[in-house]
Amino acid sequence: MAVKRIDSTDQNVSKYVFDFGNAVAEAVLYKYPTYEARTVICCSTQSGCPVGCRFCGAGDAFVRSLTADEIVGQVQHLFADRDIDPAKVEKCQIMFMSMGEPLLNFGHLADAIRQLHALYPRFSLLISTSAPAVDYERVNALSVEVPAVGLQFSVHESTDAARDALVPFKAKLNLHQIAAAGEAWFVATGRQPFFNYRAHEGNTVQADADRIYAMFDPDVWQATISVVCERDESVAAANVRQRQLATDFMGKLGAYGYSTRCFDPAGQDDIGGGCGQLWFVQDWMRNNPELARPSVGRTFPIVHAPREVESAA
Ligand code: SF4
Repeated sequence: MAVKRIDSTDQNVSKYVFDFGNAVAEAVLYKYPTYEARTVICCSTQSGCPVGCRFCGAGDAFVRSLTADEIVGQVQHLFADRDIDPAKVEKCQIMFMSMGEPLLNFGHLADAIRQLHALYPRFSLLISTSAPAVDYERVNALSVEVPAVGLQFSVHESTDAARDALVPFKAKLNLHQIAAAGEAWFVATGRQPFFNYRAHEGNTVQADADRIYAMFDPDVWQATISVVCERDESVAAANVRQRQLATDFMGKLGAYGYSTRCFDPAGQDDIGGGCGQLWFVQDWMRNNPELARPSVGRTFPIVHAPREVESAA
């Protein structure tokens, strides 16, 4: 296995690319402001992704699901690479949201979660899902068994039509079904699920907030508003405007009583540290077309077009 680290000019974030030979994974490591005070890790659960979200750099192709050891190994590698002693870390969140749909790799995810909880019992483990149509009773049972587990649904739009265009994978829950699944998880665990909403020009007016409120009870749900990160690095700088849209929509949801937070990861502008950027994965897919099967949303072939990648530590 080859691992490449790419450091952002923002000192607080680094990206890691794991090349397993027949698959690739990415993980991102953040500190706030030190690793000891608060560490956040986003790690991959699949190589590529079959869901095909149109904003996501991993969404064009799927290679394979990662094993539990490959998932846990990403976290262990990051700690070791930065000489982080997990016992000295006050707060840590390990989020299954870098690449892949965790619930389409549930068996390996569940094993990885049990291993990570045994290794780091104080750390939060967040499953971030696009809501494929799977058996959510298993998710609820795992979340009861491992109380460190949190659950976030990628809602992203206020209508099913808009969401279907963004997330073309057909075998998924609709918005009302997501609301019901989250409420069942809340009842089973006593913990609030999150919905994640990508704020952009087309989905941040008052009518969008009204529709979200009609479906998602603020006594059950907490809201994460994500700043849109461009998958194409040439337009990454566009996100000043995106941050404003996210902040404004947070205000609209806050007025309805939601507990809200903004997800605006560092490193978007130079290492693709944000959601769905995955620039290095996109390079790997171009260089390994025989291993990368087209995902549902892809409308163009992957062409071998190598690009210079900055050297890594
Ligand atoms: S956003 Fe997540 S679920 Fe959607 S294609 Fe990307 S990795 Fe898959």
